Amino acid sequence: MEGQDKNFRSMLRAPVLVAGGAGFLGAHLCRRLLDMGCVVICLDNLDTGSRDAVEALRAYPRFSWIHHDVVDPIPIDGPLSRIYNLACPASPRHYQADPPHTLLTCVDGARNLLELARRTGARILQASTSEVYGDPLEHPQHESYRGNVNIVGLRSCYDEGKRCAETLFSDYGARYGVRTKIARIFNTYGPGMALDDGRLVSNLIVQALKGYAMTLYGDGSQTRSLCYVDDLIEGLIRLMESPPSFRGPVNLGNPSEITVLDVAGAIRALTGTSAPLVRLSLPPDDPRRRCPDIVLAQRHLGWRPATGLQDGLRRTIADFALRVEVEVP
Ligand code: NAD
Repeated sequence: MEGQDKNFRSMLRAPVLVAGGAGFLGAHLCRRLLDMGCVVICLDNLDTGSRDAVEALRAYPRFSWIHHDVVDPIPIDGPLSRIYNLACPASPRHYQADPPHTLLTCVDGARNLLELARRTGARILQASTSEVYGDPLEHPQHESYRGNVNIVGLRSCYDEGKRCAETLFSDYGARYGVRTKIARIFNTYGPGMALDDGRLVSNLIVQALKGYAMTLYGDGSQTRSLCYVDDLIEGLIRLMESPPSFRGPVNLGNPSEITVLDVAGAIRALTGTSAPLVRLSLPPDDPRRRCPDIVLAQRHLGWRPATGLQDGLRRTIADFALRVEVEVP
């Protein structure tokens, strides 16, 4: 308990930097940290982030933001207590728009933020991804699994960029004593997701709310694990505040595996749409199965997702309905 208090005081001692704080996860994280009493600096190039999210956070006097690209050295001199690196487009539609820049965002961004951590002595957490496992040949995916990743495919700029960033985090920890943490995040959904990011949940909800045909890629039997955003943010903060000896990588995701067809079914039921389902061919390198092994997170962080899919989808649909201006039955 005493250790926890000391940790909490150290988090409040100096500002927390959230790179990518204008994005879906970043904005939730900023809000949560502000509610905990932290001074928060968001650094973002607004590539996929939302200016509205930043404007909403400006209601907190302890919030400030810097418009900056992490590919360039970070213009911060002052003290920092924590650095969260979430800066990277997360949906294939966005990260495939400019693959070389995505790769540089992952690699140079990680290096620039690690250098900042080295200068300031701040702890630093990397938002890595289940995509480091590629199209996995092991189920569920344990952190020790080394993955099945295409080096030169459509998704490689993201997958390989994130893998390289993990290597940098690991090496800066070992070589320079930087206090690093790595979270491997699995698909996360919730209020505030971009309506047009082309991801499974956002696509299906927007189509259902608008009464459009709902698109399924492949036969819908491929599986995903869907974690509600509040649970994920709780996991990130627990990892950041965990003892320095626990660095990860650690999987953060929902171990309930669900088929894409069942996700569509749940969204159909909750929105009451009668729109048809349309099947399209699977994009190349699309993973067939996704399911995290979260034993490490349970053991070291006492974490597991608490929000059920129905509950999480209901909250997400209510938020989307406001933004696409449709009433939910
Ligand atoms: P997002 O696209 O909504 O947010 C990313 C944020 O980073 C945006 O605000 C964007 O403007 C900013 N950004 C992108 N490139 C930048 C650059 N070069 N310099 C500065 N800012 C930059 O994505 P998200 O869903 O919030 O994901 C956040 C992080 O979590 C990403 O690193 C992503 O890889 C990781 N992640 C997310 C998921 C998920 O399901 N959402 C799953 C696995 C990993």
